[in-house]
Amino acid sequence: SRIPLTVLGAGAMGAALARAWLAAGHPVTVWNRTPARAEALAADGAGVAASAAEAVAASRLVIVCLLDDASVGEALDGVALGGRDLVNLTTGTPAEGRARAAWATARGARFLDGGIMAVPPMIGDAGSGGYVLYSGSGELFEEHRDTLAVPTGTRYVGEDPGFAALYDVALLSAMSGMFAGVTHAFALIGREDVPPKDFAPLLADWLTAMAPAAHQAAERLESGDHGKGVVSNLAMQVAGNATLLRTAGEQGVSAELLTPYTDLMARWLAEGHGEEDPAGMVELLDLRRGED
Ligand code: NDP
Repeated sequence: SRIPLTVLGAGAMGAALARAWLAAGHPVTVWNRTPARAEALAADGAGVAASAAEAVAASRLVIVCLLDDASVGEALDGVALGGRDLVNLTTGTPAEGRARAAWATARGARFLDGGIMAVPPMIGDAGSGGYVLYSGSGELFEEHRDTLAVPTGTRYVGEDPGFAALYDVALLSAMSGMFAGVTHAFALIGREDVPPKDFAPLLADWLTAMAPAAHQAAERLESGDHGKGVVSNLAMQVAGNATLLRTAGEQGVSAELLTPYTDLMARWLAEGHGEEDPAGMVELLDLRRGED
């Protein structure tokens, strides 16, 4: 038999999650601050609670998917959490995840924080490749892992409740850099008569081909060896950057998405790392560098 659960938040993501559990036969109680969004799930078989407290009282397993950490604090203010298994799928920072875990534990709940690596249409679609990063109570995760795996994939990344948010934000931050590059590339070709649709397959294939560089960088960061077997050393890449910047100028495109990274490379070169692979540049971003 499927265990009952509660979903707090029937926004785009909360509603998708609730529907996936309902479709799998779980009894689901939903609550949403604006009642109409919860009531829309009644047609799918959800029980609608009149308050967050009533919804939390309805099931031991409570999934929270609200806008941000502040809304979680607001929605659960004064709600009895003793003996509950709280799974927080609200996006937040690592510090918010840790503070929320301490807050929940002090109220007698077990706590798991989650970072959703999917958009709502991927929820309930087993082939979508989406997943949720989890961290916090390993006990809670083990006990509910089959239920948690119903809407999308699961990846448990450790007892530290800040890790789900840390991994989530690290992945999103890398994506942000990728989208900056995509934006610049389309701006460059956009100055000519090249249809974006003709260029897009080249762009997607190139980014895919370059993605495994993350593994090589990881190897160097773990070994601390940035000099052995270098294919494209920093000095060569900095010279190449001049061509990227000149081309932006020729095409009448602002280089503002490129220069933060090219400037950082130039600084690392000036510190004497020209013969190395650029993976060691992460050191330059450490704001506590030189403090200890
Ligand atoms: P929506 O904007 O669709 O829904 C936000 C939800 O938060 C609504 O249920 C809203 O209630 C509720 N809410 C906001 N403020 C409060 C408050 N002060 N007290 C109580 N409830 C509140 O967002 P999503 O469902 O898309 O996102 C939910 C979470 O999922 C976010 O943390 C988001 O980052 C994360 N997520 C979303 C993804 C997406 O693509 N949508 C992808 C990955 C993660 P009301 O209806 O009353 O306004």
